[in-house]
Amino acid sequence: MGETLEALHRLQAVELQLAEIRRKRDAKARRIEYYKRQVRNAEEKFQQNRETIRERQARLDTLQLDVSSREDSINRHRQLLNRAKTNREYAAILTAMNTEKADNAKLETEILQLMDFVQNLKNEAAAIEAQKARSLEDVTRAEEALRDYDAECQQQDHGLRADREECAEKVPPSALASFTRVAEHHDGEAMVPIAKLHPKRDEYICSGCNIMVTLEVVNALQTRDELQVCKVCGRILYLESPETQRSRA
Ligand SMILES: [Zn+2]
Repeated sequence: MGETLEALHRLQAVELQLAEIRRKRDAKARRIEYYKRQVRNAEEKFQQNRETIRERQARLDTLQLDVSSREDSINRHRQLLNRAKTNREYAAILTAMNTEKADNAKLETEILQLMDFVQNLKNEAAAIEAQKARSLEDVTRAEEALRDYDAECQQQDHGLRADREECAEKVPPSALASFTRVAEHHDGEAMVPIAKLHPKRDEYICSGCNIMVTLEVVNALQTRDELQVCKVCGRILYLESPETQRSRA
C-alpha cells in the first residue's frame, strides 16, 4: 500500500472510532427526545381531559339547576292542589305535577351517569399525571446518561481528534478532501477493501457495495499511490495485504 493510502487507512480507523462515539451519543440524545415527547403527549392528554371535565361539569350544573327549579314548581303545584276548587282544576294540576316528577326522575338518572363519567375522567387525570411524572424522571435519567457519556468520552474524543489531525497532515490536500467528503457520506467509512470473488480468477468487487471493480483499478492500486474510488458507492478502494486476507478467511 502506498504512503497516501496507508495514511488514509489510519485516518479511517480514527474516523470510525469517532463515528462510533457519535452514533452512541446520537442514540442517547434521541432517547431524551423520546421521553420529552412522552411528557408532551401526557400534557396534551391532560389538557383534553380537563376540557372534557369542564364541559361535563357545566352540563351537570345545568341539569341540577333544572331539577331544583322543577322541584320548586312541584311544591307550588302541591299547594295549589289543596286549594283547587273543581275536580277538573285538581286533575289539571295533578297532571302537571306528575309530568314534572317524571321529567325530574329522568334528569336524575342522567345526573348520576354524568357524575360517574366525571369521576372516571378525574381518575384518568390522576393516572395521566402519574405517567407524566414518570416520563419526566425518564428525561432526567436520559439527560444524566448523556452527560455521563460525554464526560466519559471527552478524553478519548480529544485524543482521536488529535490523531486525526496528525494523520491528515500526511495526506495530500486533494486526497484528504475526497476522503472527508466520502467519510461524511458513509458515516466514517470512507475506505473499503477490494474483495476477490474467486481465488483462481481475476474478478474483484467493492466490498462496500458489491459492484465489480475493473482489473485496471486493481493494477493501479498495486502500482501507484493514488486514490481509486468505487464508481457506484464512491468509497475509496484499497487492496488488503495477503496476510490480512488470510487472517480474515
Ligand atoms: Zn462500492
